Amino acid sequence: MNIQAKSILASRPKMYWRIAQTLVGLIGLAIFFSLIFFPKIGIHAFWNVLIPVAPALFVVAVGLWRNICPLASTSLLSRHLGFAKNKKLKTKQQGRLQLISVILLLLIVPLRHTIFNTNGQATALVIGILALIAIYVSFQYNWKSAWCSGLCPIHPVEKLYGKKSLFVLPNAHCKYCVKCVNPCPDSTTSIYPLYKTRKGLSRKIAGTLMIGGFPGFIWGWFHVQDYYNNEGWNHLISTYAYPLIAMIITLGLFLVIKKALVKKHEIILINLFATAAVSIYYWYRLPALIGFGLFKGDGMLVDLSQSLPNWTPVLLQISTTLFFIWWMIFNKKEMTSWVIRPPYIKQNKPIHNINNPII
Ligand code: SF4
Repeated sequence: MNIQAKSILASRPKMYWRIAQTLVGLIGLAIFFSLIFFPKIGIHAFWNVLIPVAPALFVVAVGLWRNICPLASTSLLSRHLGFAKNKKLKTKQQGRLQLISVILLLLIVPLRHTIFNTNGQATALVIGILALIAIYVSFQYNWKSAWCSGLCPIHPVEKLYGKKSLFVLPNAHCKYCVKCVNPCPDSTTSIYPLYKTRKGLSRKIAGTLMIGGFPGFIWGWFHVQDYYNNEGWNHLISTYAYPLIAMIITLGLFLVIKKALVKKHEIILINLFATAAVSIYYWYRLPALIGFGLFKGDGMLVDLSQSLPNWTPVLLQISTTLFFIWWMIFNKKEMTSWVIRPPYIKQNKPIHNINNPII
């Protein structure tokens, strides 16, 4: 069900969202500076708390994340303050940005083993570079078209996992909808990575890589250890080989099954692969967080391996996998968009109004 608001967000709820965005932004800033000045704390806060929570949040409430993501709020500041250029991206350009975002994701994630997981300053540097790109492209192009729904390397994951929402939320960024991106991932019911891919080859490649390849990519990624003190650069080939070879295998499997299926059953296959990807992630990630990981100490938040029974990881693995299978495949919850689409801007609205800070 596509939902569109009849009127713009009232000032009181808007104020609450601005407070929430500011608070999350301050937490983001604190993590960023911890990565530089207190790397041990920063690494735990970023890689072992924030990032492990993110996929589950995308599964149950991706709209909430879209409303409060600190990078989104920062990048959209120029638009909120009324000095962004608001250029329109062509559909083809949007598709290219989406393909680049998938490539960025596949390039950056293996480097976690090489350097980012163990080096706070390097993590801060890559976040800083991404933030500068986000600020620049959002200054140039309309609303979320260039970053949040374009280049952001997290966006392909949001689109893969975000099918059903626990609650229906307003769009806390766009005052009016100016149709900056088509289809708008925030406002389109049951958006998924191959949605409307007749709109271009780049979108099709990006969507297929994510759906078919991501389960294998995650599996392969967890079978590589973290390296310390620049040792990782000597193992760069195997660090990329594991996730990429596993990715090719699941991608091949996806393409073969997809070819054999009739079109109307394709969405079931896509759901199965998305469920497999997030289940594999938590299958390995949760045990690692509490000291039961494949490589002792890697990605560990707290070591409970001596105090918890040996079957704890299996319990976590089975319960999270069952939950995702239920939520993503069997739960009959009505599909809605991630957030409510704001009212469309009136065609004859003068341009200075479009740039008005309150929009
Ligand atoms: S709601 Fe409209 S203005 Fe906002 S991101 Fe979606 S298409 Fe763009």
